[in-house]
Amino acid sequence: MTVIDNLRERLSTARPRPVDAMPIEPVGWAEHQEGVDKLLASFRAVPADKRVRLAKKTSNLFRGRSEEQAGLDVSGLGGVIEVDPVARTADVQGMCTYEDLVDATLPHGLMPFVVPQLKTITLGGAVTGMGVESTSFRNGLPHESVLEMDVLTGTGEILTCSREENVDLFRLFPNSYGSLGYAVRLKIKLEPVPAYVELREERFHTVEEASRVLADVASSHTHRGEPVHGLDGVVFSEDEAYLVFARFTDEEGPTSDYTRDKIYYRSLQHASGIRRDRLTIRDYIWRWDTDWFWCSRAFGAQNPKVRKVWPRELRRSSFYWKLVRLDRKYELEYNFIKKPHGKPRAERVVQDIEVTPENLPEFLHWFFNASDIQPVWLCPIRLRDGVDELVGTGDIASSSSDPWPLYPLRPGQTWVNVGFWSGVDGDHVDPSAPNNGAFNRVIEAKVNELGGHKSLYSEAFYSREKFEELYGGNLPATIKAVTDPDDRFPGLYEKTVDEA
Ligand SMILES: Cc1cc2nc3c(=O)[nH]c(=O)nc-3n(C[C@H](O)[C@H](O)[C@H](O)COP(=O)(O)OP(=O)(O)OC[C@H]3O[C@@H](n4cnc5c(N)ncnc54)[C@H](O)[C@@H]3O)c2cc1C
Repeated sequence: MTVIDNLRERLSTARPRPVDAMPIEPVGWAEHQEGVDKLLASFRAVPADKRVRLAKKTSNLFRGRSEEQAGLDVSGLGGVIEVDPVARTADVQGMCTYEDLVDATLPHGLMPFVVPQLKTITLGGAVTGMGVESTSFRNGLPHESVLEMDVLTGTGEILTCSREENVDLFRLFPNSYGSLGYAVRLKIKLEPVPAYVELREERFHTVEEASRVLADVASSHTHRGEPVHGLDGVVFSEDEAYLVFARFTDEEGPTSDYTRDKIYYRSLQHASGIRRDRLTIRDYIWRWDTDWFWCSRAFGAQNPKVRKVWPRELRRSSFYWKLVRLDRKYELEYNFIKKPHGKPRAERVVQDIEVTPENLPEFLHWFFNASDIQPVWLCPIRLRDGVDELVGTGDIASSSSDPWPLYPLRPGQTWVNVGFWSGVDGDHVDPSAPNNGAFNRVIEAKVNELGGHKSLYSEAFYSREKFEELYGGNLPATIKAVTDPDDRFPGLYEKTVDEA
């Protein structure tokens, strides 16, 4: 198949999902059971000595993924099973996208406690992969609002786990990236939300001041006397940072729409002081998806002339992903733009790291001096109060003093997620080994030096020793010996560092 044929096919199979809300009907329990039966049948069809993996249509995983393992049929596990508006809970299938989940809950005036920014991230993926969003400073991470989960383990059983039942699996599942099994059903708590969000976007001229205010609001939940329900920020340079304070409200009023000509991240930029804006709650939830934060600019989608003809329903992260995959397969940028000008391949730099607010200024100064990448996204995170009631529960996890032992976050401590999704030119790349992740390694070392860590959805280079120090020591291996004694799934290190 030629590049053009491939491009044509990808464009034609792009999901024609409308930009605006779409009614999502719960599938109900009988259909859910059929989906589980299909999954189990596909698991049993794989020889017992062969490894298995998910056969999913979408992914937001940036590192490589082995195609050698046999794919499990999860085609019947992408829906919402039931929403209970009185108890404010939802039973959701593991591969349900947040886009569908939000469209099923918003008509009840409810939304998940944390909704990651990209529409095709699934509930199971966010719970096992530590999703974050602007409500994470008060609502923690997606796994913290899970009440119970059904997980397909390596023994082919479906185990229900919660704070009371199979507690080890429940506590060790977050950040396990499918190495302990796949969530097929999750019961989650939902938060009541009003129709609108009022945004106050404040400009800071130093990253020190922005970091100080970020830390303060992350623990006080107020700013200049007003409540803050959502908090994140964008930094364009050492002297241009914005924090966005979101207040959920039912007050009527005009709203902006960044799914059309205007571009959300650009709208934040102003000379000084505070700029105000308003969005519907749904547009607030998906404000970053339309232009994949800012990554759509690499495809020309922010050029006014191109934007006019770019179909509105294809302004979405899942479509840009398809273009990225195509570029990775055929090295389009290198072959058509860089190579003819004698330029080397660029190194992809797609990472989310976490440091404390005290260390954030040092990281940002260092980062902007070490690369031309800009802007970067800031999102404060705090585990929810009361999670320490988990410490000491479970047989295996009880040896850890962290409630969620596979990821180094402690209650009472604010961390700031810093996201950057771009690349650097060849001068950062070791010419003798152009694809060795040279600048990514330097970033990892700097984050280590600052006592931070990073999300494992992208490339990582940790030694086993350092990895164990950060991500749960021998606990992943210990529980795997129980839930996956025959190694049907790759181990956590293998999966996230060795890219199995
Ligand atoms: C450019 C970029 C930007 C990102 N930005 C954000 C962001 O702003 N906020 C955020 O929260 N995240 C972000 N992510 C990370 C994303 O949340 C994680 O990669 C997440 O795990 C993706 O979930 P998915 O549903 O797309 O799963 P996939 O990409 O399909 O899989 C991710 C991993 O989870 C495992 N997995 C998937 N489903 C299940 C399941 N049901 N049970 C157990 N394991 C499962 C898979 O085996 C795999 O190891 C970003 C990623 C990229 C590439």
